[in-house]
Amino acid sequence: MRRAAPLLAVVVASVLALSGCAKNARPKAASANPVTSASAQGSPIEASAVPSVSAAAASPSQSAKGKPPTPTAKALSSTKPPAAAPGRPRGPVTGPGPAGSIKDTGSDAVALTFDDGPDPKNTMDLLDLLKEQGVKATFCVVGSRARDHPEVVRRIAAEGHTLCNHSWQHLQNLSEREDSYLSWDLQSTNDAIRTAVPGARIDYFRAPYGNFTPRLIEFAARLNLKPIYWDVDDECYTTSKYGVGPAMANHMTAIVQRDTRPGSIILSHENLKPHTVATYRSLLPWLKSQFRLIALP
Ligand SMILES: [Zn+2]
Repeated sequence: MRRAAPLLAVVVASVLALSGCAKNARPKAASANPVTSASAQGSPIEASAVPSVSAAAASPSQSAKGKPPTPTAKALSSTKPPAAAPGRPRGPVTGPGPAGSIKDTGSDAVALTFDDGPDPKNTMDLLDLLKEQGVKATFCVVGSRARDHPEVVRRIAAEGHTLCNHSWQHLQNLSEREDSYLSWDLQSTNDAIRTAVPGARIDYFRAPYGNFTPRLIEFAARLNLKPIYWDVDDECYTTSKYGVGPAMANHMTAIVQRDTRPGSIILSHENLKPHTVATYRSLLPWLKSQFRLIALP
């Protein structure tokens, strides 16, 4: 089994990981982005907050109590608390995405999903835009960032958007980690969100880079989190090819306009990506004109 990596490797891997989400993302060098560097320096996530295996085992998170016995994703629909409005379907629990993850909204509505925040600048700017346009979206937040920017998480929730667990520190090989780490990672992310927003509803989990496996989905299901993938990837991370100006906006827009269909889930990233917000300024009115846009239910 893989043991804990040396600290430096973990830090480097985490910083790189946080610069993008999709599988084929080509992360920018951490030093090239001052926000990444500052954040990494100012955030002790890798150094102190992530427990070793033994620490995780010694300090089980509080919600370990009452943990259901590893329901399958399919069983989740029956174990779900009766929070949904009666008679209103909540969409599929499993889908045709990797390892059975969900990749459509289950209706004709289109869901915008924004990953890797909260980012104190770009998430706030995006929230301004969404408010202006009257659109609700889904934010897949990284636990350590939620801990560092609780005010942003509070605003996401207060303005009616959906929160999604995107793991504690965006490890590309999350699914290969040991059981105790996985439990700690997913629970800590939920805890960070609920520290910011007590009682926050968290129904979704997105694996870093979309690297879902049946085992990871099972761990998410223990927390009643549904695995959410996407079917449209706006490729906002391809900055080495398209830069962060008009060429990138055109690229992202072309993809979304070409690939989005009723029921689509669109993958975007706002963390460290002001060009995503800039692109959505023009893209959002188009999306609104073509589709009903929803936060995941
Ligand atoms: Zn991501």
